[in-house]
Amino acid sequence: EDLKDICALKRSKSQTKEEDWNHEGFEWSSKLRAILKSTFQISEFRPYQLSPINITLAKKDCILIMPTGGGKSLCFQLPALIEDGFTLVISPMISLMEDQIMHLNKLGVKAEMISSETNLKASNGIFQGMVESKSSLKLLYVAPERLAKSKKFMSKLQKAHELGRLSRIAIDEVHCCSTWGHDFRPDYQFLSVLKDMFPEVPILGLTATATTKVIIDVQKMLSIPGCMVIKASFNRPNLYYEVRIKPTAQKECIDELEYLLKNTFKNQSGIIYTTSIKDCEDLRKELRARNLQVSGYHARLEPEIRSKVHQKWLTGEYQAVVATIAFGLGIDKPNVRFVIHHCLSKSMENFYQESGRAGRDGQRAHCILYYRLQDVFKLSTMVFSTQTGLENLYSIVKYCLEPSRCRRSIIASHFDEVWDYSDCDKMCDNCKKSRQSTDMDITPHCLTILKIIETAINEDTKLTAQMILDIWFGKNNKIKCKVATPKFPREKAENILATLLIKGILKEDFHFTPYSTISYMKAGPKHASVLHRGEKVTMPIKGISSESTSSQNDKNDRVPDSFASKSNSGSHTQSKNKPDNATGVSTKR
Ligand code: ADP
Ligand code: MG
Ligand code: ZN
Repeated sequence: EDLKDICALKRSKSQTKEEDWNHEGFEWSSKLRAILKSTFQISEFRPYQLSPINITLAKKDCILIMPTGGGKSLCFQLPALIEDGFTLVISPMISLMEDQIMHLNKLGVKAEMISSETNLKASNGIFQGMVESKSSLKLLYVAPERLAKSKKFMSKLQKAHELGRLSRIAIDEVHCCSTWGHDFRPDYQFLSVLKDMFPEVPILGLTATATTKVIIDVQKMLSIPGCMVIKASFNRPNLYYEVRIKPTAQKECIDELEYLLKNTFKNQSGIIYTTSIKDCEDLRKELRARNLQVSGYHARLEPEIRSKVHQKWLTGEYQAVVATIAFGLGIDKPNVRFVIHHCLSKSMENFYQESGRAGRDGQRAHCILYYRLQDVFKLSTMVFSTQTGLENLYSIVKYCLEPSRCRRSIIASHFDEVWDYSDCDKMCDNCKKSRQSTDMDITPHCLTILKIIETAINEDTKLTAQMILDIWFGKNNKIKCKVATPKFPREKAENILATLLIKGILKEDFHFTPYSTISYMKAGPKHASVLHRGEKVTMPIKGISSESTSSQNDKNDRVPDSFASKSNSGSHTQSKNKPDNATGVSTKR
């Protein structure tokens, strides 16, 4: 079923191409240009703006996918001024609507908004404007719940439609329609009535983040299957992507951040993202204590404080803001030179958005993500209750674990973009080194971990990932389980465990205490094939192992890449690559 949908989407894309629409030979083209200059004071279209504008003016439905900051709003604001009547804009956030309306009013465009905060008198005035042919109303912004909950509004809209005044419907953040998206909003479901009620009114959906799966879902929900989908590239060529192993000791981690801020990013401006308000506060204090000009930004601060912090960061008084995801909307500083993730994001989408705040001016900027297994559980216990929370989290864990593939290619494939490796131009850590990798057989380690879990179950105990690692390394004798201590560092054992988790061989098991949620490990849906059907489990490691993949080559993936490739051409490393017998291989095999 899904495959059929995907084929249909591909076909519909090939029927008319983006290029067919990307020109100025339409009857409205000269008027478009004139208003672009006179009203919006913009001299040129940006890439992928003209096509959706032409498509919607040709009264065809369209979905536009474009990264944040790309200029999606113009694609419905400009068409709104070309025709009589008004454009209905559906948007999920009052503050975003207010910003746009203020901007439009400044340009002399009549735009209004109806929200739950609009009083009766004001809304009556707006209702009047909807149905009056002399009205100058050009854009009407509403929150989706207004549509769903106000019968009066809907009947006015119907009236306006009958009078031919509803010229198009723009749906901002259209991915909110889909339960597959990262930001599903139940009120968006009501939008499914629009096509039935207003069949010939073109719909223009806009979003920054959507996979093929989400787009197909959105098309179905809005009853616009096979509509044109215009997709701008997500590649940000000036951003350098890097993943670093986060030191286990907090002090070491702060040392590293201090070094970065005082040397690598000296006199440069940036953002440091954390997960929780507590981490945000702690980190701010630690960095302040080292004489760094930073401040914190999170949802629990008063709005005045937040805007003061933002302001001081804009002017350069603060070098960096230590922030939770609350620091996002409306952040439009062009010269952000670094975005550091002190903890991984909760999804690939979030990571892309957050790191994407760097380098808006097109100049080179640096995006560093500090990864550590324990942070995965910090997030999983926060997101597991949403439908795709864990799936989304594991996609970014996979990004972190990747030892050799281009980071950009992982981001691109996440957004279903075709990727050419040369496009990175060594602007990520993996491409800068060598992209060679070997699949290491981790089956014996997998069996060890499964054995530890099974023993715990028999002893009526539950284990967290950290406890499993402690037992494996002989640092915890909570349960009686004899396994040989690994001869490799804990960091690698962490990677093995994380790999088993994202492969579904292990599974998180969430438990609630009055104060927190705990993630325990249990055997996952895929464990049986390893345990009982002799299936092999592999994990990619850096470099080329000279032996076959079945030997555990502990050295190679610890050595920096430049050495790994040298050792490949050399001849002397074989003897050093001791096979790893540090695994209490269970006899079940
Ligand atoms: P998005 O919704 O895609 O995140 P916006 O529509 O908010 O992006 O636009 C981001 C910024 O880009 C706005 O300040 C807008 O005025 C500006 N912008 C849009 N199109 C152009 C253009 N063709 N030329 C210059 N600036 C533009
Ligand atoms: Mg927008
Ligand atoms: Zn790369």
